[in-house]
Amino acid sequence: MTSTTKTSKTDPTEILGAIRTFLSGTALPSVSQVALRSPDPFRILISTMISLRTRDEVTLAATDRLFALAQTPHTMAGLTQQQVAAAIYPAGFYRTKAHSILAVSQILQQQYDGSVPDTLEQLTALPGVGRKTANLVLGLGFAIPSICVDTHVHRITNRLGWITTRTPDQSEIELQHVLPTQWWIAVNELLVRFGQQICTPQSPWCSRCPVAQKCPRAGVTRER
Ligand code: SF4
Repeated sequence: MTSTTKTSKTDPTEILGAIRTFLSGTALPSVSQVALRSPDPFRILISTMISLRTRDEVTLAATDRLFALAQTPHTMAGLTQQQVAAAIYPAGFYRTKAHSILAVSQILQQQYDGSVPDTLEQLTALPGVGRKTANLVLGLGFAIPSICVDTHVHRITNRLGWITTRTPDQSEIELQHVLPTQWWIAVNELLVRFGQQICTPQSPWCSRCPVAQKCPRAGVTRER
């Protein structure tokens, strides 16, 4: 089925509230689960680094194995790259991530007295840490309102007509203008799950969608 692209705006609070209700009872993304169990910024930072291009269940198990070996930047920096790589395997790019995890741990130890910094600029200066990871750490680790825009958040907020952007970085800036602050942290965990289950990249399940009546389906050319 093909839908027409419209440009009408939908109310983010109403839409996200409906999506939250729809998703209640489904498992949180891996890093949100880590944060729920232990809101330690270092653990959240490292688990987010592990989670990139990695399935949730792999991320959770890898984080547990790694933090069974070391819990602080100081002790983490004392591990070998082989130990870290073995602990986080089979996470995607585990060798590269092991290198970055050790480099980050050393910098935190040497420059931040073993703490995780709480600004976007300082976090994105760390090796292997981009805006997506930094915003997740700020939100989940420090409760600082921050919008973590991954591919799901970028795609779905464009389809909903809240923004019209080409890249996740543009989306982050635009969403700061249209999304009430109360949703900045939660929008990622809601739309990641929603994007995996309903508003999928190819042929979204509009027929099963709880907000279908209000969604302009901007840019959607094929749906189920
Ligand atoms: S599944 Fe369809 S109706 Fe629902 S948010 Fe995505 S594009 Fe809109």
